[in-house]
Amino acid sequence: FFMRVSRIVNNTPNLLLLCTLSGGGVVAYSELQSGVERPSIDANEPSKKKVVVLGTGWAATSFLKDLDASLYDIQVVSPRNYFAFTPLLPSVTCGTVEARSIVEPVRNIIKKRKGEVRFWEAECVKIDSANKKVFCRSNIENLVGSGEFSLNYDFLVVAVGSQVNTFNTPGVKENCHFLKDVEDAKKIRLSVIDCFEKAVLPSLSEEEQRSNLHFVVVGGGPTGVEFAAELHDYVQEDLIKLYPAVKDKVKISLIQSGDHILNMFDERISSFAETKFTRDGIEVQTGCRVVSVNDKEITMKVKSTGEVYSVPHGLIVWSTGISTLPVIRDFMEEIGQAKRHVLATDEWLRVKGCENVYAIGDCSTINQRKIMDDITTIFEAADKNKSGTLTIEEFQDVMDDIIVRYPQVEHFLKQKHLRDFTALWKDLRGNESKEIDIEAFKLALSNADAQVKSLPATAQVAAQQGTYLARCFNRMDQCDDNPEGPRRFRGSGRHKFLPFRYKHLGQFAPLGGEQAAAELPGDWVSIGHSTQWLWYSVYASKQVSWRTRVLVVSDWTRRFIFGRDSSRV
Ligand code: FAD
Repeated sequence: FFMRVSRIVNNTPNLLLLCTLSGGGVVAYSELQSGVERPSIDANEPSKKKVVVLGTGWAATSFLKDLDASLYDIQVVSPRNYFAFTPLLPSVTCGTVEARSIVEPVRNIIKKRKGEVRFWEAECVKIDSANKKVFCRSNIENLVGSGEFSLNYDFLVVAVGSQVNTFNTPGVKENCHFLKDVEDAKKIRLSVIDCFEKAVLPSLSEEEQRSNLHFVVVGGGPTGVEFAAELHDYVQEDLIKLYPAVKDKVKISLIQSGDHILNMFDERISSFAETKFTRDGIEVQTGCRVVSVNDKEITMKVKSTGEVYSVPHGLIVWSTGISTLPVIRDFMEEIGQAKRHVLATDEWLRVKGCENVYAIGDCSTINQRKIMDDITTIFEAADKNKSGTLTIEEFQDVMDDIIVRYPQVEHFLKQKHLRDFTALWKDLRGNESKEIDIEAFKLALSNADAQVKSLPATAQVAAQQGTYLARCFNRMDQCDDNPEGPRRFRGSGRHKFLPFRYKHLGQFAPLGGEQAAAELPGDWVSIGHSTQWLWYSVYASKQVSWRTRVLVVSDWTRRFIFGRDSSRV
């Protein structure tokens, strides 16, 4: 596992973007809107196909890293001119690592690459797939001249990520912190210090001190849990030494609407986290939904009893999942996906309802409704004599097909400890029968449906999708004559690309106090101090460049020796 991780990791550092300052296919947006087209900045438009990439996050950078830049004319648009290593954002909120240590400027990365990639620091505001154009607006302040322009594309790669989901809860946008980007983490860091500085002012009553020092984390997923754990460590290891007068008045609450925190992890991890948090004095409130927030109070409803109550707060961090960005919602309406929550692609990551548009990472989901239908079709095709049963050989063929198309099924089978098809076959056919009942098999697979339904919105998925898509693009020419199809058609030469296949490499949950939990491939669960060291080594090696790796490791060392910096700068 470790070697596999290091291999991936060692590939990751070279998340390279290229940039040249020559223009091409760029037209002023405002003039387009008014019907007057300004000529392209570069009169000599390259003959190569134009690829426009939206975003500089996990998905986009891994796509760019693996794409053969010499094959295309590539332009990248993003309002962030850097790549951020999001798994370390919770550490930035408490100064365990510095914000600058986890970001790599795009231009720093691109200068190391050969090839042609141009970067525009702007936000895509509209995707016009009918005319193969994207409209962009620069977010740079005090810009002299117009920051609006449009880009033509032959292929569009949408990798714009997502936004925080507030579930339209009143007062959340105005009164809560989010933890999505480096700017958010920096704001939280300042606000935590603010809360302590406010609490020690001589004019405050004890009750007011307690209110200022009540930190509420909404959302018991990995981000919320990690932030609560970081904050607890920060308070216990550093802040109470600096603010001894209020050390007994600090309270951290973690609100979760489900029955358990970390409920996407193995049950052992979830219950270990709950026990540890309770022991550390972090108040975990499960089965509780936030109904509104104002600048002084947070109001919650207990699901089981319906009781509604409010508590004062000093700071709230809202971390309850993600939703679709407005630009993607508008695009979905344009292409007939208005009824969906997330932009749907097929298994080749092509956006449904338009041509030559691909979507990767958090902004998209592989359309899942088809999966069970497909599995049924594969099955029925295998049952040539319509007997309703399959032999072991036929069954293995079916499973090969299904797993090539839907690797999540394999993940599900492994979780059920059915590591090979023969074991599954034996499990399903019972003791006596030499054949398997198709209905029984379909029933078993429909249990996998929940697992099959969606890939998690993680950096791991985004990065793998980026790499997969780059490889498809690199082979686009070779494959143009062949219609795509699954692997089973390979022998007949009919295949184009294999569908995207996600490999789950495990996941971590740092729990504070130098302890972490990890779910590793092969259903291994590891919890404790040694897992924290595994976390340190994996995250150090996964850094995007040697520069950030050195910075992160030196931040950790500095924290061990001197503690965290609590100055308000
Ligand atoms: P992002 O990485 O969010 O990138 C989106 C990019 O699009 C950004 O560059 C953004 O500036 C750009 N963009 C936005 N709007 C526009 C626009 N209109 N036009 C052009 N560009 C635009 N995952 C893990 O696997 N492991 C973890 O430990 C982990 N920890 C996390 C901790 C935190 C605090 C957070 C917030 C997330 C964490 N994740 C983790 C999830 C992971 O960060 C996301 O799944 C991943 O970032 C998704 O990659 P992406 O490329 O789709 O989106």
